[in-house]
Amino acid sequence: MRCDGMNTFFDKITTSLQQWDRQGRRRTLEATAQPSDAFVVREGRTLLNLASNRYLGALAVTSDEQSGEGTPKRKRTHGGGAGSSRLIAGTDEQTLAFERAWAQFKGTEACLMFGSGYAANVGVIAALADRHTVVFSDRLNHASIIDGVVLARAQLKRYRHGDVVHLERLLAHTPPHVRKWIITDAVFSMDGTVAPLPQLVALAKAYGAALMVDEAHSGGVFGDEGQGLVHAMGLTDDVGVIMGTFSKAYDSYGAYVAGRADVIAYLVHTARSFMYSTALPPLVVAMTTEHVRRAQKESWRRLAVQMHAQTLRTRLVEAGFSLPCAHTPWYSGIVPIVVGDNGQALRFAHELQQVHGLCTVAIRPPTVPERTARVRLSLMATHTEEQMCRVAEALVASAQRLHMIP
Ligand code: PMP
Repeated sequence: MRCDGMNTFFDKITTSLQQWDRQGRRRTLEATAQPSDAFVVREGRTLLNLASNRYLGALAVTSDEQSGEGTPKRKRTHGGGAGSSRLIAGTDEQTLAFERAWAQFKGTEACLMFGSGYAANVGVIAALADRHTVVFSDRLNHASIIDGVVLARAQLKRYRHGDVVHLERLLAHTPPHVRKWIITDAVFSMDGTVAPLPQLVALAKAYGAALMVDEAHSGGVFGDEGQGLVHAMGLTDDVGVIMGTFSKAYDSYGAYVAGRADVIAYLVHTARSFMYSTALPPLVVAMTTEHVRRAQKESWRRLAVQMHAQTLRTRLVEAGFSLPCAHTPWYSGIVPIVVGDNGQALRFAHELQQVHGLCTVAIRPPTVPERTARVRLSLMATHTEEQMCRVAEALVASAQRLHMIP
């Protein structure tokens, strides 16, 4: 993996891992199977489980158990919760297998699952940045990225949305010896815009910065099998850390961080939201595995959502709306109608619901900058082109009634 200029940063990781080895502090994620309530299996041996926080025992109702009248009997192949954090006894073979397969899919050396995208961003940024680091962050990055920077006590320099000229100016004004991270969403959650990743890679190389990309809204949607925007743009080897969540396109829960094996090993020892939080329930990992397989195979879903976005955007622009720019061919499933005024955004959403039967959301500050309240539409593969036309007509009619467009 090439991350020129970040050698000191990766040297620090190598040194830390070697030091932990010497000090007996090195952690490995051991698979622990939980075939029954009070026993676990580790390295092929059945052991009495004294490492679970499941104080009342397993509470899943199985088909073998007597269930009360009217209570459906359920067959569970997995327990309920993981019972403890990943580093205690909450790592099972299924999770390790998923992490190996996911890293391969993403084209990275390794990957680590987190409880949620929020936990991943906060944990990873606080682990990789410190008070001597400057984080360059797109002004529209997700709140979890900002919270990670705050937790790291790093210096935050925000650049104007997608503005690589502004970013370069900020980089140029930062002394060369200072450790630098550039962090960006791949697709911006409230605008549907796409980050200028090739230019960010070039700037990261030129100024010795590392790059982290949040694929929350691009995973599953872009790439032949949904690998995400970084992969689709052929930039995997140039991005130090890729994160994403399974809670959006994958219709599940949890998140991942993918990158170099040493970076992932370092995070196992330092990302506190990973270390000190209960592992994802095996049921959730099983669901994610199943949904990922389906999403990889069913390319029509990716094509449909991109086509719907293109259709809707084209119709809205023709009708006089001005939309945050979409960069062909990267049409995300997010289409925002920026209204400005909070009250007007609420009226717009209300009218769309009452008159046209559309469920949309009025997004207001602090989720978006002041005076940029909007109605945000999230498109799905299972919508139809006919529905997109109907949505466009409804938006035009309501916007005209509210004097938003002529
Ligand atoms: N990053 C981005 C860009 C997001 O939009 C979100 C979800 N709103 C997250 C991270 C957090 O992910 P999760 O919902 O899995 O915590």
